[in-house]
Amino acid sequence: MRILVTGGAGFIGSNFVNYMVRKYTEYEIINLDTLTYAGNLENLKKSEGKSNYRFVKGDITDKEFIESIFTEKIDIVVNFAAESHVDRSITNPGIFVSTNIQGTQVLLDAARKNNIKKYVQVSTDEVYGSLGKEGYFTEETPLAPNSPYSASKAGADLLVHAYYETYGLPINITRCSNNYGPFHFPEKLIPLMIINALNKKKLPIYGDGLNVRDWLHVEDHCSAIDLVLHKGKNGEVYNVGGHNEKTNMEVVKEILTQLEKSEELIEYVNDRLGHDRRYAIDPTKLETELGWNPKYTFETGLKETVEWYLNNRSWWENIISGDYKHYYTEQYGKQ
Ligand code: NAD
Repeated sequence: MRILVTGGAGFIGSNFVNYMVRKYTEYEIINLDTLTYAGNLENLKKSEGKSNYRFVKGDITDKEFIESIFTEKIDIVVNFAAESHVDRSITNPGIFVSTNIQGTQVLLDAARKNNIKKYVQVSTDEVYGSLGKEGYFTEETPLAPNSPYSASKAGADLLVHAYYETYGLPINITRCSNNYGPFHFPEKLIPLMIINALNKKKLPIYGDGLNVRDWLHVEDHCSAIDLVLHKGKNGEVYNVGGHNEKTNMEVVKEILTQLEKSEELIEYVNDRLGHDRRYAIDPTKLETELGWNPKYTFETGLKETVEWYLNNRSWWENIISGDYKHYYTEQYGKQ
């Protein structure tokens, strides 16, 4: 079995590649990534040199290049490649349309022409829009994205579904809640707060800090995708989430407690434009139909993650000392 993982040098993709290379020594895992600011081969040290792993640098929007990759027989495609940060989609939406929608279409075409066995699109709960105080997203919840990021992911999901209906391409779409864990890029909430607290910098909280996100450890997301690619029924969507709803403020206070730092570091900043209030996933279908169960509670997962950032300082120090500085200054107005 040869699996093409696109975007496998990013946060979730690299965790997934490491998981698959470790678990399926008889498979061949090809990691295709163009290495944007978010792609980092340091994340793949555990897989490098293994006989069942290969890295190829390339862009999913490059049709000729993608077609050349499929001259080798590919059995399964798992597409993680994306622009993934909501704040960046607000300042620069164009690249989100190009990578997330056009890139997906290029991959779908190559998958269709080469009769692959399965195409898995890694999507997000953000395509469903925002919830009120009650209720959960199910696979039947209508798509109602609010940010350029989530709109581009929803557009990609619709194309993936269209390739199933029109061409019979054997697809699945997974829609997962917010992930956290090792190799999470410092711009995202949990690593941002851990790193700023360790550097005694202010912790910028959007709005009133009461927006709710549903958190899942990245390893549990990987096990869900593993199940879907082996057992998912063609054409189906599977929601992935672990019932860990937390306000941003609860998450930040928990991080400060674990690091034994003062809550005085918290600083309220202007709210994100169009900021969705609440996400919450109902994962019943994945649990009952495919037998998925998350391994981590939020408490154990967050503790392990904080420890990972404490033990892997050089990984994030290399990132925050580079181009990231410019992004941080533009976003938060100071270093
Ligand atoms: P990430 O930004 O950390 O990684 C994205 C990867 O894609 C990077 O390695 C980047 O170099 C690569 N990439 C970008 N454009 C590319 C292109 N044109 N061609 C090839 N590679 C390209 O993102 P992530 O947080 O790991 O998310 C991975 C996927 O999972 C995304 O599709 C995202 O929408 C989805 N998702 C993320 C979360 C989350 O909480 N982070 C939750 C649910 C779903």
